Amino acid sequence: MKIAILGGGISGTALARMLAADGHQVQVLEQAERAGGLCKSRRYGEFTFDEAGGHILFSKDQKVLDWQLARCGGEAGTVKTVRNTRIRWHDRWVPYPFENGVGHLTKDAIVDCLKGYIEAHVQRRLGVPCPTNFRDWILWRMGDGFARHFMVPYNEKIWKCDLATMSSGWVAGRVPEAPIEDILRSAIGIDTAGYTHQSVFWFPREGGFETLVRGTVQGGGFALRCGHSVRNVRRTGDHFAVDGEAFDLVVNTVPLPLIEPAFEGIPEAVRADIRALKPIALINLMIGVKLDEPLPDLSWIYLPFAEQGPTNRVTYFSNYSPNNAPAGHGSFLAEVTHRGELRPDREWLQNVVAALDRAGILRRDQVVLTEWCNNDFAYIDQNLEFSSRVGRVRAWFDQSGYITFGRFGRYEYHNSDQCVGRAMEVHQHIRAIAASGGPARPTFR
Ligand SMILES: Cc1cc2nc3c(=O)[nH]c(=O)nc-3n(C[C@H](O)[C@H](O)[C@H](O)COP(=O)(O)OP(=O)(O)OC[C@H]3O[C@@H](n4cnc5c(N)ncnc54)[C@H](O)[C@@H]3O)c2cc1C
Repeated sequence: MKIAILGGGISGTALARMLAADGHQVQVLEQAERAGGLCKSRRYGEFTFDEAGGHILFSKDQKVLDWQLARCGGEAGTVKTVRNTRIRWHDRWVPYPFENGVGHLTKDAIVDCLKGYIEAHVQRRLGVPCPTNFRDWILWRMGDGFARHFMVPYNEKIWKCDLATMSSGWVAGRVPEAPIEDILRSAIGIDTAGYTHQSVFWFPREGGFETLVRGTVQGGGFALRCGHSVRNVRRTGDHFAVDGEAFDLVVNTVPLPLIEPAFEGIPEAVRADIRALKPIALINLMIGVKLDEPLPDLSWIYLPFAEQGPTNRVTYFSNYSPNNAPAGHGSFLAEVTHRGELRPDREWLQNVVAALDRAGILRRDQVVLTEWCNNDFAYIDQNLEFSSRVGRVRAWFDQSGYITFGRFGRYEYHNSDQCVGRAMEVHQHIRAIAASGGPARPTFR
């Protein structure tokens, strides 16, 4: 088949590689000057930075992890790191996840957290149902101590909204429940670990996270047309056309609100739903420092409090690979979310860096480089209407004969490994279409 894939991020390029290996004629149409999307990296002198905040290679799915590592040159082409993450909790460094680090708080805060956690645990045992909004979910799941001391300030900082206006649906499966024994152990000073599937991770030795996409494109056997912003997509009977060129199948991975105007035939109500799927944007500060001693052995840290500035997370980026910064230097990525309103200037950047200095993360006098990059589509606005809206949008696409997937191509809030996992599913689905041979196509979900 001749297949068009819209968007050359990891979703589009991974699928293209899989389809090309089956002998299909595949074209990836990408608006930017090169493939990569949110996985892109860039260089400033001898510094390499990721554009959309700190990215790591990890997966719960071994098949997907192996696929990703192979694209990055395997063990030799990657650096393996034991995750070491912290929360900058006032003047303390509290291990992450917060529940497992509770023993590192002040005594008063430990009591607040334990009391709330036990009360919440008992309430759940008594059958209090899972709340539908995120704020109440935090209280239901973790109690008011954990809520007050970390979960609410941190989440308000990242989501930039009242948490009662957010759905709780998206956290299921994302935030594993810490066993109460672990919380009690941690509270009396016995270390416990959480999120074990992420306890080690990999990062490309050279070229930043974008190496994953470059390795997917290289030898991929498909045509990649960059600088091509898709303007028109239509279906007539069993035929598809993209910007006037005929295809047997069209797969979209472009963020839906960006590609919606190009698609003919979408009903007005579905268009309105797509336009209402608002993203959360991300400013990523790329900071280079000259060091007189190595950076602490940290992977990334969370900054929950307003006095730490607008940054919600800092990645110790030169710890991911020694090639991310020149000798004698280190680098950080500082992530600041916004809802489209933020227009950084030099003064703003300096203020963010000054706040990181006050929070004890870096020393301002060591900073030799500060750049920034905006990503309009970073996180999904998980408001209370999101689930029903996106359900209607997916339902329309799934019966339309088009296939749409990807972080914002289907609004599934996936990491790159899950995008690759979904590409594997789409690949199987297209095999089923090819095998069916006729117009009665199986439906992708
Ligand atoms: C802050 C942050 C941290 C993350 N951390 C991790 C992590 O640690 N590990 C991990 O695996 N994942 C991580 N992710 C997720 C990861 O970045 C995404 O899952 C993945 O990059 C999404 O790929 P995609 O191809 O679905 O979408 P995108 O990368 O968004 O690709 C879509 C492509 O469509 C193109 N496009 C737009 N308009 C058009 C048009 N009109 N015509 C043609 N092309 C167009 C864009 O240029 C883009 O290249 C993180 C994401 C964020 C925001």
